[in-house]
Amino acid sequence: MISLSTPIQEIPRVGVAYSKKLKKFGIKTVQDLLFYFPARYDDFSEIISISQARNKLGEVACVQGEIIEIETTKSIYGRMAITKALVQDLTAQIYVVWFNQPYLEKSLKENDFICLAGKISLGKEGLYFNSPAYERINEIGENEELTHTGRIVPVYSETRGITSRWLRYVIKPLLYRFCDQIQESLPKEIIKKYKFLPIQEAVWQLHFPDSFEHADAAKARFSFEELFLIQLNVLKEKIKLMLKKAPACPMDAELMKNFTDSLAFKLTDSQKKCAFAILKDLEKTVPMSRLLEGDVGSGKTIVATMAALSVIKNNHQVAFMAPTEILAKQHFRTVTESLKNFDVRVGLMTGKDARIFKDGETTEVSKKSFLGDLENGQLDIAIGTHSLIQKGVEFKDLALVILDEQHRFGVEQRDHLIKGKKSVPHLLSMTATPIPRTLALTVYGDLDLSLIDEMPKNRKKIKTIIVEPSQRKDAYEFIKKEVAGGKGVFVIFPKIDSQATKLKEAIEKHGPMTGSFVPQHYDLKSLGINEVKALKEEYEKLSKEVFPDLRITMLHGKMKAPEKERIMLDFKKGEIDILLSTSVVEVGVDVPRATIMMIEGAERFGLSQLHQFRGRVGRSDMQSYCFLFTTDPSMLNRKRLKALVESDNGFTLAEKDLEIRGPGSLYGTQQWGIPDMAMQGLSNVFLVEKTRAAAKELLEKDPELKNYPELKERLKQFQTRIHFE
Ligand code: ADP
Ligand code: MG
Repeated sequence: MISLSTPIQEIPRVGVAYSKKLKKFGIKTVQDLLFYFPARYDDFSEIISISQARNKLGEVACVQGEIIEIETTKSIYGRMAITKALVQDLTAQIYVVWFNQPYLEKSLKENDFICLAGKISLGKEGLYFNSPAYERINEIGENEELTHTGRIVPVYSETRGITSRWLRYVIKPLLYRFCDQIQESLPKEIIKKYKFLPIQEAVWQLHFPDSFEHADAAKARFSFEELFLIQLNVLKEKIKLMLKKAPACPMDAELMKNFTDSLAFKLTDSQKKCAFAILKDLEKTVPMSRLLEGDVGSGKTIVATMAALSVIKNNHQVAFMAPTEILAKQHFRTVTESLKNFDVRVGLMTGKDARIFKDGETTEVSKKSFLGDLENGQLDIAIGTHSLIQKGVEFKDLALVILDEQHRFGVEQRDHLIKGKKSVPHLLSMTATPIPRTLALTVYGDLDLSLIDEMPKNRKKIKTIIVEPSQRKDAYEFIKKEVAGGKGVFVIFPKIDSQATKLKEAIEKHGPMTGSFVPQHYDLKSLGINEVKALKEEYEKLSKEVFPDLRITMLHGKMKAPEKERIMLDFKKGEIDILLSTSVVEVGVDVPRATIMMIEGAERFGLSQLHQFRGRVGRSDMQSYCFLFTTDPSMLNRKRLKALVESDNGFTLAEKDLEIRGPGSLYGTQQWGIPDMAMQGLSNVFLVEKTRAAAKELLEKDPELKNYPELKERLKQFQTRIHFE
C-alpha cells in the first residue's frame, strides 16, 4: 500500500535511479515530493488559434492543433537531432522545431493532436515555434487535463537529470492520489484568523494553480508557516535556556570605574549603555544570551573585556573566541594590555602554540600545561579560536563565553559548551554584521540585542572614492605621500592568482595543452579579457615598478599562522608600508596607523563586506580613505559602489544589499538552509512580526505543543533541516 510516507523509489514513475537524484534535494518520501514546490511559473494559460499565434513573433504563445507532418533529421555536422513538424488547426498552419530531442520521433506521430506552448521565432522558412513545451491531447479544445501547456505551468529548480517536465509528470498523479491525505499542520485558529488556504488546497494550488492569485494565496500560507516554524524553534530554545542556571556575577561598580579610568580614552555613551546591560545580565542566575552588535570600529572589544573582568573578579573563568588566529592573537594583546593592572591571568591557545600572561609577563607554554592550568583554575581567561572548545579542553569553572563574529562558529560547537553541564555559561556574542530587523526577530530571535550605535568621537568620516582607470596613477602618487607621512596602506584583492598565472603554471608543469577547448594562449589581455587584478602579480608589479622604494608585503590565507601574525605585527608597528592582502583582513584587524584601504575588483565583494574592509582604516583621529577599483562598468555595480560612497552606515548598506541582491545576500543565510518561502518572507517585517506574535501566543498556551501533534512533527522535521550559525 502506497501512502504519504512511502519511500519514493517505490513509486513506479520514480524508481531507484531517480530516487537517488531526488535524495540530493532531501526528497525521500511521497510527502517530501509533494512539498517540493515550484520556483516559478510559466503562464501558458491563454490558448489561441494558430492564425493569432502567427501575429506574435518574438512572444510566447499556446496553441492546439493536429500534426500534419513530422520528421527528425541530423544537423549538417551530424551532432544534433532536429525534429520538425507542421501543425494546423482550423485557422492556419505553423512549423515547430525541436533541437536535440530525438525521442520525439517516437512519441509524436502524424495525425496526433497536440498542445504547444513556446516562443514564436522567424527562420528562413517563415514563422515557427521554437522548441516549445508540448503534450498530446485527445482533441482540439481540450483543456481539462493539461499539465505542461495550456495553463499556468510550474517550473521547479532543476538539477542534472531532473527536469520540470519530469517532476510535473510524477507529482501530478501523486497529488490526485494523496493530496487529501495531507494533515493540516497550522492550528485551526490561525488558519481562520488569517484566512489561509487549508493545507491540501494550498499544496495543490502551489503545484498547479488555477490562477496567479491562487498561487499567491498558497505561497502566503507557506511563507507564514515556515517563518512560524522558525519562530517556534527559537522561542522554544529560549525557553529551554531560561530553565537552566548560570553563575550570578554581581557587578563591582568601583572596579568598573577603575577599569574605565585606566583606559586612554573615554567610553562612548553607547558603549556604557551596552556594558551596563551586559553587566546587569551577568548578575542573574538565568544564562545571558546577548548579541552585541556594533559597526566596525565601534569598540566592542573593550565592552567584552569589562564583562570578562566582572566574571573573573567573581572567581569564574571566561572563554573568548575569535574566528581566526590573527584575531585571537590581537584580542590577546588588547586584553592583556587593558587588564595588565588588574591581576588577571590570560591565556592564548591557537592551533599549535599556547601562551600565558601572568604578573605582567607573557610566556610560551606547552599546550599540555596550558590545558592543565585551565582545568585547575590557574587561568582566568582563555582566548583562542574554536580550538578552545574542542574535546579535551576542560575549564574548572567557565561562566562566560564571548564569541567574536559568531557566524563563523557552528551551533554544535556552541552546544558543546553547554552539554552535560549543570551550570550553563553566559553567552556574549559580538558582530559587526548589521542584522536587519526581520533577522533579529527570527534567526536571532533567541538572543537579546545590544547595539553600539555611536562611533568613538575622535573618528573622521572615511573618504570613499570610486577610482577610474585613468586616475590610477594619481591614486598611487597619493599613496606615496601618505606613506611618506608614516601612514599604513592596505590593498585588497579578490583573489591570489590570476587565471593567466594559473594557466601559465599549468603549462609549465604539464606541457602545452591539447584539445580544441583549451586556450593555447595564456595572455588573456591579448584575447581582450580585462581580468581583475590578482594579489601575486600585482605584488611583483607594485614592489618593482610602482613603489620600488617602499616596504611592501603580502598576506594571504595560504600562509601559516605565525607568519601571518608576524606580518600583521610589523604592519602595526610601522615596519611595513603597504600590505597587500586578500579578504583575510576582513574582520576585526586593528591597525590604527593605516589610513588607506584600496580595493581591487570591488565588484567581487558584497556591500557589507566592502564596508568591513573600509572599517580597517579610520581607526584613529587621522583622515582616512577608501579607494574602490572596478573592472565592471555595469550600472548595477555602479549603483552598489555608489551606495558605499554615500553611506558610512553598515545598517543602511546591509538593507541596500538586501534590496539589490535579495535575502540571499545576507550573511549566513545561504548556509542556514532556510526554505525558499521563508527566505522570501524574511524581507517582510509585518509577516515576521505576525509569526512571532502567533508563536508566542501558542507557546504560552501549550509550551510542549501537546495539542498540535502535526505541528510538532513538522517542527521536528524542520529542525533537522535548518542549522543557524
Ligand atoms: P570593533 O567594534 O570593530 O571590534 P574594536 O573593539 O577593535 O572595534 O575597537 C577599535 C579601536 O577603537 C581600538 O583601537 C580601540 O582601542 C578603540 N576604541 C574603543 N573604544 C573607544 C573610544 N570610546 N574612544 C576611542 N577609541 C576607542
Ligand atoms: Mg572586533
